Amino acid sequence: MPLYTVEGVVLRTREYGERDRLVTLLDREGVRRTVLAKGVRRPKSSLAAGVQPYTHSRFLLWKGRSLDGVSQVQVLEALTGLRASLEALAAAAYVAELAEAFTQEGAASPGVFPVVLAVLRRLDAAPADGRVHALWLRHAELRLLDLAGLGMQLDACQGCGRPLAAEAAPTAAAGDPRPLPGAGRPAAYSAEAGGVLCERCAPERPAALPLDPATWQVLRRVRRLTPTLAARLRPGDAVLARAAEVVQTHLVYHLGRPFRSHGFLAILEEARWSSGAPR
Ligand SMILES: [Zn+2]
Repeated sequence: MPLYTVEGVVLRTREYGERDRLVTLLDREGVRRTVLAKGVRRPKSSLAAGVQPYTHSRFLLWKGRSLDGVSQVQVLEALTGLRASLEALAAAAYVAELAEAFTQEGAASPGVFPVVLAVLRRLDAAPADGRVHALWLRHAELRLLDLAGLGMQLDACQGCGRPLAAEAAPTAAAGDPRPLPGAGRPAAYSAEAGGVLCERCAPERPAALPLDPATWQVLRRVRRLTPTLAARLRPGDAVLARAAEVVQTHLVYHLGRPFRSHGFLAILEEARWSSGAPR
């Protein structure tokens, strides 16, 4: 049986037959592969550790007629730290669901693997902090959207084309960053329009979500920064909640599918915010 090697992260597994599991993994080239891990549910299976969800492994795969399978697996990074809290685990599940949505079985989606692995590594290494998790997740969403050519239009109003700035009125004071001449203030987000609307254009689309300048700034920064730098931003809870809602609306509109694990994450976040739990 021909063999080949693939490095990747496990996105999810599901039971198959009596003793096997189907493993969905994302390889370095951004190819999604569903492979069979035979006998993995037997006690002492040598494959079990390497095919755990969110594990980064090197797989020796055999080529089957309809389905390929795992012959051997070597764990590169167990990333078990992300199982330390329900929030981190829920965030990892959402990242995996995003990765599936932005990739195709057997076809490459370049750039997706590093985004996914970087966020899983951060979730593994850091203590549970829902606010930081939220920034990492927004980073992953915005980067994956950009890679897919579905990026949110954040720099110019999608109604009139004016550039956008947090402060519309130019001031004589040498404040930095200085507002662009003629710039509008961001006021709303419209999935239909593909991005942000200025305060003049927002009333023309009553279905658009309100988007305040602070949330707009956070989205622009999170998209640009590495996960480590994004985690240093300190937005308030209302801004984080609005950012999550706006990006989720964009994702669902453009991908045409809801995200199960995002719903669970939202419940966890709401519980944290309403209980005033330590952040
Ligand atoms: Zn406008």
